[in-house]
Amino acid sequence: MNKIIDLRSDTVTLPTRDMLQAISEANLGDDVYVEDSSTLELEALAAEITGMESALLVSSGTMGNLVSSLVHCPRGTEVIMGHKSHTFIYESGGISTYGGIHSHQLKNNNDGTININDIKDAIRIDDVHFPKTSLICIENTHNKCYGFPLELSYINLVCDTAHENNIKVHMDGARMFNACVALELDAKTVLENIDSVTFCLSKGLSSPIGSVLCGTRDFIKEARRIRKSLGGGMRQTGVFASAGIVGLKSMRSRLKEDHKNAKLLAQSIHNLDGIELNLDYIQTNIIFFNFNHPHISSTELVAEMKSNGILFSDYNGKHCRLVTHNDISRKDIENVIDVFNKLLS
Ligand SMILES: *Cc1c(COP(=O)(O)O)cnc(C)c1O
Repeated sequence: MNKIIDLRSDTVTLPTRDMLQAISEANLGDDVYVEDSSTLELEALAAEITGMESALLVSSGTMGNLVSSLVHCPRGTEVIMGHKSHTFIYESGGISTYGGIHSHQLKNNNDGTININDIKDAIRIDDVHFPKTSLICIENTHNKCYGFPLELSYINLVCDTAHENNIKVHMDGARMFNACVALELDAKTVLENIDSVTFCLSKGLSSPIGSVLCGTRDFIKEARRIRKSLGGGMRQTGVFASAGIVGLKSMRSRLKEDHKNAKLLAQSIHNLDGIELNLDYIQTNIIFFNFNHPHISSTELVAEMKSNGILFSDYNGKHCRLVTHNDISRKDIENVIDVFNKLLS
């Protein structure tokens, strides 16, 4: 049987051979006792790469964002975030469930930004009628907004606005390294004014499990307590932290291959019948297109591609998303283009 070409997400990446070897040789201990040396090494490396004081391994990006909000935001305070943000849409409403934190959603532009004037208007004045604003959460790259990376000038503008008002900024940087590659900036520069960030080891970096939350020493100390209270204190986490080290050391620079593959795929299919796709939006490893075909629905398209061994997602029977990653080669992309051509031209 031919290989399944799985473009549903970069979460489907399997650990590399180097990762499996690192896992088999990892030095292990009990991470609740802060004695798992592989995890400590990963956290130190993450802190160094991000330019943050300290870092904490968490089970998922969702847990990292939740822990961060629980540390930054007292109960009854408010977080400003985009209406298309992962935290608003895809994290089961955890911040309100577990933190009594109110979310204030503002409109995301197509490039993942929120207008700075909307943010300024949303920051609450001190009045008994209002919750206090405690945090602004920005997403980089922005999943629902075509995988757009946020420009450095925009990130710093948000941070300045927040800090002038004594508000913290958290970056949901699940795909932050894709942003760094796309903008040709190192993570330290991107994060210079950011108070905390979560990034995923388990997406483009190809590790099997885990995300890392980074921030100040005091922030991470409290995050460790909150992680424990959520049931996220784990034991021999070096079993996957060791793979995360390989991911951070050797998988960041290759993300540009995923971006090139996404661009090639988008360029090759954007003129096909039914596909509505703005090539200017393809900046990283995510392709979104609207599908408007006189005879084929997007659900049928996805099913037809699946019978050709190609997987991707469709949302609301309208938008399709394809994500490139380490397990998708240039040759796989050429195959995908051939099948699209066969079905739609
Ligand atoms: C994947 C993702 C997360 C976290 O996802 P988990 O599946 O919980 O690891 C958070 N934010 C964004 C933008 C993501 O794409």
